[in-house]
Amino acid sequence: MTEAVVEPQSSRTRLSLPVFRSDFMADAHEASADQRLQTAMDNSVTKRDMGRKTTLAELPDPNALRELAGQIKRHTLDHLDYYLELLEANVKKQGGQVHFAVDSRQANQLIVEIAKRTGSKLVVKSKSMVSEETELNEALTEAGIEPLETDLGEFILQVDHDHPTHLVMPVVHKNAADIGHIFERYFKTDFTDDAQVLAEMARVHLRHRFNEADLGVSGVNFAVAETGSIVVCCNEGNGRMCVSRPRIHVALMGMEKLIPALDDLPIFLKLLARSASGQSLTQYSSIVSGPRRPGEVDGPEEFHLIIMDNGRSRILAGEYRDTLRCIRCGACLNSCPIYRKVGGRTYGSVYPGPIGALLTPLFNGLEQHKHLPHASSLCGACFEACPVKIDIPKFLIMLRGDQVKAHITPWTERTIFKLWTVGLRFGWTYRLSQIAQRIGMRLLKDKQGWIKNLPPPVNGWTKQRDFPAPAKEDFRTVYKRYRQNQKPSVRR
Ligand code: SF4
Repeated sequence: MTEAVVEPQSSRTRLSLPVFRSDFMADAHEASADQRLQTAMDNSVTKRDMGRKTTLAELPDPNALRELAGQIKRHTLDHLDYYLELLEANVKKQGGQVHFAVDSRQANQLIVEIAKRTGSKLVVKSKSMVSEETELNEALTEAGIEPLETDLGEFILQVDHDHPTHLVMPVVHKNAADIGHIFERYFKTDFTDDAQVLAEMARVHLRHRFNEADLGVSGVNFAVAETGSIVVCCNEGNGRMCVSRPRIHVALMGMEKLIPALDDLPIFLKLLARSASGQSLTQYSSIVSGPRRPGEVDGPEEFHLIIMDNGRSRILAGEYRDTLRCIRCGACLNSCPIYRKVGGRTYGSVYPGPIGALLTPLFNGLEQHKHLPHASSLCGACFEACPVKIDIPKFLIMLRGDQVKAHITPWTERTIFKLWTVGLRFGWTYRLSQIAQRIGMRLLKDKQGWIKNLPPPVNGWTKQRDFPAPAKEDFRTVYKRYRQNQKPSVRR
């Protein structure tokens, strides 16, 4: 396998992923002090994490199933050229059309051209992270075509000109009162924070608009190479409406979303629903195989599948290939103590959380996202949660290594790590550095024995937290004395 160091952004011409915000440290500081955000995280994210654990435990051997899913994805990625050709051939056999897009701009162009050729004025969209990646709504609007998000969370964000902050729960950062104010402005109605009333308002509005739409855009949860089918999973039924009600259906997928055969699908459906939302199965899992055939009562007249690269083949060719196994379930976000504290907006990208901290620099380059590989405590919760067993902590450490190789880290950090290396190399330097650290830190303690303000360049440690000063005596000294005191009793 080729060794690929992630290139600094300056050496590349354009970003693959849109960047919404870029000051991770300032945004993290603000978000961690935001009580409303913390409550929203506790109410939704933590509950989903508990739900995942409970429903996975219902399976006879969840760990073996995760292992199998990971192996299937790895096998597919190792033979991606073969499976892509198989998928293309089978979609065409089913009467669909296949387009390959090298980047997000080309993917958007293809959709705009299809919309223009078919005289489509209104495009209804089901939830699709890849269309967030391409900024499809902006491209359609520029071309004079109206995009309409039909997933409730995405619809709220669209009318509020906001971005998703979670892969599965895009509006997790807003509470019912926030949504009440958004709908009050948009629908010009009285304020309410009754969730049921708000959902009904959106449902009635969207149901009416579905009937006017000419073109439906969906994402693809899985594309089955063997049958040329795509699978769209959703809980609100809007996905099924988008793929069956309009005259034209365009499915947009990243090229890694393949699975080899229909027999593999139940494995992924079981894991996706449990990992994403703690459900045994997503409410609606639609398997779409081409356009409407003669004699069928519903379905589109045309079916187009757009398979997008947008930087994926570069990742596929390097040592980060396994990151492309991701099925975008969001479980790593729900389990991550950092995501729970800082929320999704802080990551500044369409892909937040632990997997976003990996994918965003891999797509866009490290220079632009220096802080993301460090936005992790490396506790391993994301690895434990991941249904396809992506070793996110390992890859984050590799990215940190790439930063050092690319000289992106500040000189202060490089000097500290050099000193640390010397300290760890010999027993006597290790002991000496321990003594120096203990003396130095004890000088910084307050009257209660706590360290609350470290000096630069390590002052970042105490911006959000404090910690107790080290004890007067180190462990070695205490242990040595203990052993000496024990000797007579041992002899006896
Ligand atoms: S990395 Fe794993 S846990 Fe995270 S979104 Fe992807 S599949 Fe889900």
